[in-house]
Amino acid sequence: MPVDRSELNVESYCSTRSSARHFTFEYAITSGYAPDGGIYVPAGPLPLFTVSRLKEMMKMDFDQLAFAILRRFLPLKEIDDSQLKSVIDRAYSKFTTENRVEVVAPSSSPVSIAELFHGPTYCFKDLGLSMLCNLISHFTPPGVEKKRTLVVSTTGDTGPAALASVDRAANPNLNILAFFPSGGQISAFQRLQMTSLSGSPNIEVVEFCGGGDDMDKPIKVMQKDEDWMKEAGLCGVNSYNIGRPLAQMTHYFWSVFRTLESRYGKDCLDPSKTIEENGKFVNVVIPTGAMGNIVACYMSKHCGLPVGRITAGVNANDITHRAFQSGDFSKSAKMEKTLSDAINIQIPYNMERLLFYATGGDHDKIKGWYDEMDQSDSLQLDPDFVATLQTEFSSHRVEDNEMCAMIRSFKANHDYLVDPHTAVALVAAERQGYFDPVSNSLPTVVMSTASPCKFQHSITVAAGEGEWEAYYASKFPPAGKQLLERAKAGGIAEPVVWEASKEGFDRTQIEWEQSARRLIKEKFLL
Ligand SMILES: *Cc1c(COP(=O)(O)O)cnc(C)c1O
Repeated sequence: MPVDRSELNVESYCSTRSSARHFTFEYAITSGYAPDGGIYVPAGPLPLFTVSRLKEMMKMDFDQLAFAILRRFLPLKEIDDSQLKSVIDRAYSKFTTENRVEVVAPSSSPVSIAELFHGPTYCFKDLGLSMLCNLISHFTPPGVEKKRTLVVSTTGDTGPAALASVDRAANPNLNILAFFPSGGQISAFQRLQMTSLSGSPNIEVVEFCGGGDDMDKPIKVMQKDEDWMKEAGLCGVNSYNIGRPLAQMTHYFWSVFRTLESRYGKDCLDPSKTIEENGKFVNVVIPTGAMGNIVACYMSKHCGLPVGRITAGVNANDITHRAFQSGDFSKSAKMEKTLSDAINIQIPYNMERLLFYATGGDHDKIKGWYDEMDQSDSLQLDPDFVATLQTEFSSHRVEDNEMCAMIRSFKANHDYLVDPHTAVALVAAERQGYFDPVSNSLPTVVMSTASPCKFQHSITVAAGEGEWEAYYASKFPPAGKQLLERAKAGGIAEPVVWEASKEGFDRTQIEWEQSARRLIKEKFLL
């Protein structure tokens, strides 16, 4: 007998690579990676939201929706209703719009745009991280003899969002160490968002001389040491942490609901029919890096949300695209510099979760594949499996010049300035045929993952100084302007810098791991 997923609540978590050991939700989100090197997923089948439940959920505001979704994933014995409500309240309290996420259709735009950037650091990372950090803070109350140290490596937006969330949590037991790569790999504004918070007793920011994900290995090595994990209370909060995809499901439900409504009206779902019989689906297009956001979309779909085709827009760092097109999931020789740095990625963590769900939850298969991946940084997916992926996913690799042309044309045609990552997704949407209303029976929503305010350099390259100045004068967020003025007045100190070892890359990673341990010990644990 198959389980009735419509009544199912998640009770525990396990690794993608084995279901032998079950973990509490608290354990899963406060560790990051599973002890066997896999990443956490809910143990057992995913809960299902029935059509009549979806119909109810369409009427909810964003915070109620977050509660309705998370309640099914967070065991009641670990967090009760009022505690969960208060976490949600705190997570979204600093968002600048009542709706948290605005789904807009700029004048004569062929697609809806989900503005996911109304959080405190102007990026969708705020949606996942503020929830995750507040959940961790909930499990680490002040006054208790237990400390947590969040560790995060960032190619741009994760660091600012995580630091801001920890700063606002103002919990003396919650510390954070954030790493970012040197040499202009993140924008000047993102850099300021981080360095401006450094100096607080529970925050440390380090600039390392390496490529975007060169800090991943030292972090992973630290996290494999279970004794040290315990001593330091280490939590990895990059999107391998299951708390992030879970929190991000809310914005897919919200965005798909709003897009359905605007196409078919408020009462468009018929609860006497299945979701297939209803036949109302929304295609989703996502600028994709570490794949945390695309996995949240995919999980939402598996929970019953009427998502049509899911399309990934990637830049020249195209591993996800190669995997979807031909099964070539192998690390490229080097990270390419692009004008959409936040999706510069060589190995996307969340492919493991996506493959897990796409194999129907086959732990053994994932373990086999990732033993190979961990050994050789390379995995070839077989053609039958790739064909299965292609029934649900599309992808497009977008070059910088195409991305820039989209920023210009979307502004010219729809009077709407998008950030470089959203522009990558828009190019993918256009290539998918979604800009042509005649050939498209389904509505489309494009995920706008960041505000243009974070990307002066890219916007200026794409659209010119004049466009940037006009934007700065009219739409630039006031708190962002204050930050820039504080920097101009010399009010923000430079971060610590970690050099690469002269003895080569392997040595560098060992040294960085040791330095990280030392720093955590001296600053947070003594
Ligand atoms: C992180 C980020 C992405 C990519 O999200 P993933 O979940 O890593 O795929 C896209 N756009 C922006 C602006 C980001 O900061």
